[in-house]
Amino acid sequence: MKEKSVHFYLADTVEFSLAVTKWSNTKVTYDLGSDLSRGFKNAVDHAGVMVWNGVSSLEFEYSGTSFNDWGMRELDNPAVTQIYSTDNKIIEVNTYFNELEQWNTAILADPDPDELDALTVAIHEFGHWFRLRDTYDDMYSDAMMYGYIDYGEKKVKLSYEDIDAAQTMYP
Ligand SMILES: [Zn+2]
Repeated sequence: MKEKSVHFYLADTVEFSLAVTKWSNTKVTYDLGSDLSRGFKNAVDHAGVMVWNGVSSLEFEYSGTSFNDWGMRELDNPAVTQIYSTDNKIIEVNTYFNELEQWNTAILADPDPDELDALTVAIHEFGHWFRLRDTYDDMYSDAMMYGYIDYGEKKVKLSYEDIDAAQTMYP
């Protein structure tokens, strides 16, 4: 009998504005909270710099003084991204990993069957920094913006749809 795969809701995106908002500067700095382990910091840097940078005109750059924060929180989902905006301009984005979950933070190693993969989730959440939305259509299960993740799953390559959406937002 074929075992049915169980999907887990990857992330809530909390939006504080219904307007179509964008960054006014395509150089976006982010901060790595002191509550992040070195492994999480590496995963976030890798997701922003190695995966997303170069895809569109939007560039992520680490800055210890930025208030666009990555950190840890107690959450109901693996991660959450909060987007604050005013006058159609994004003024702050914060992303938090769920500190209640078991995480694999190694860039190259696969997660154990009971672990979530930090790099996979970081790439997905950075997609929300573009204002890309989750898709729950199984047709796009290879896309980074697919809204479900399994424990033990690692997915680190942008799909055509991810890239096309990012380039549409920031040509
Ligand atoms: Zn999401």
